[in-house]
Amino acid sequence: MSGLAKLIGGAIGAAIVWIYWQVRQRKAAARLAELDEGRRCVSCDGTDLAREGDVARCLRCGQTVSLASLRAAVVNASEIAAVTKPPEDRGTWR
Ligand SMILES: [Zn+2]
Repeated sequence: MSGLAKLIGGAIGAAIVWIYWQVRQRKAAARLAELDEGRRCVSCDGTDLAREGDVARCLRCGQTVSLASLRAAVVNASEIAAVTKPPEDRGTWR
């Protein structure tokens, strides 16, 4: 009986971790897309940016960033997965 309860509890826990991971991954991908398009400041995370040709300037903190350099540094899907991995995959979670 308690073994079955543990099994169910473990399955629910795994499902919650999986859903949490999926949400994090989607958010990270969306945020990277915004950064890449010059819609979000890399410095203060603000979304009020003025586009001047290939340069996006933040209206909040004044940070300027070249969109060409952003594209060169764009993070691929596997790197997104690496930064959004569930904590137990890093071997530090107990
Ligand atoms: Zn900014």
